[in-house]
Amino acid sequence: MTEFLDRRPSRSASSNSLRVSFEFFPPKSTDLEPVLWNTIQRLAPLDPDFVTVTYGAGGSTREPTLATLERLVRDTQLPAAGHLTCVGATQDEVNAVVRAYYGVGVRHIVALRGDPQSGIGSPYRPHPQGYATTSDLIRGIRAIGEFDISVSAYPEKHPESASLDADIDVLKAKIDAGATRAITQFFFENDLYFRYLDRARAGGVTIPILPGILPVQNFHQTANFAAKAGASIPVWLANRFEGLDHDPATRRLIAASVAAEQVFDLLDGGISDFHFYTMNRAELPYAICHLLGVRSRSDVAAA
Ligand code: FAD
Repeated sequence: MTEFLDRRPSRSASSNSLRVSFEFFPPKSTDLEPVLWNTIQRLAPLDPDFVTVTYGAGGSTREPTLATLERLVRDTQLPAAGHLTCVGATQDEVNAVVRAYYGVGVRHIVALRGDPQSGIGSPYRPHPQGYATTSDLIRGIRAIGEFDISVSAYPEKHPESASLDADIDVLKAKIDAGATRAITQFFFENDLYFRYLDRARAGGVTIPILPGILPVQNFHQTANFAAKAGASIPVWLANRFEGLDHDPATRRLIAASVAAEQVFDLLDGGISDFHFYTMNRAELPYAICHLLGVRSRSDVAAA
């Protein structure tokens, strides 16, 4: 045990200063609501720094996103952030959502451009009466009220970007407009994240860039999503899930071990803030937080 601690000192030393946050999406139907709220109930005692609720591009989940945020503010102590995209909507429509977020007590927005409704890959064209870029959206939000503003970041660059440096310029423009935190697209090779971090820091980016961790609840779904989002799936990851299509129990164990390896390596690299894409399931994020040493309030009270 001593030998282990000596070899990996950061794993034992920094759990007090770790911060975690969780992303949820609004339930797609009423029968999925209990799944989301049970997940939130399970993860809430971990005292996340904040939790976020996604927003369908073009406003496709406007009502359910708002309803979820309203209930989070009303029924939990969790600092809730609403995602908001500006694609396919007029400035007035987007501004109305900002005011609605403010009205239910939300003070943190994850500001995004979003993808065209015709699908990822089709060229982005701003709405004629809309916000042209995420930076414009951020300025619009700040003109309405005082919000903490988070934005996206892409360790493997955004699929539409000419280069990583061009992508970092877009991030810098979003920071100049008022963003104070970036959350990355998910990735599985930590080197990609560390290289991106180095490049962003060398380019003058000083805000926190939280790694987005996606525990692989479903490998095929993850691979499809990664292909669209421009995130790579390493061969070793595919190999680990090979032949397990009909073995969910083993898949869950593998997923936990993959995510644990990833977060411990990030921790060893000095990272202390982790953002989890929960896919509305508590089991894996909870287990990984526990491994990191992030304890639920009830565990601490019982100790
Ligand atoms: P930005 O970072 O603003 O821009 C993306 C790219 O567009 C740039 O990299 C660049 O290539 C180009 N670009 C932008 N501005 C300029 C400019 N001024 N000049 C030249 N090129 C430019 N989608 C949803 O629909 N709902 C969500 O809730 C949601 N949440 C997300 C959360 C996170 C943490 C992440 C990483 C992504 C999320 N997305 C969400 C996906 C996101 O909407 C898509 O990736 C979309 O394609 C880009 O939006 P963005 O805000 O990341 O774009």
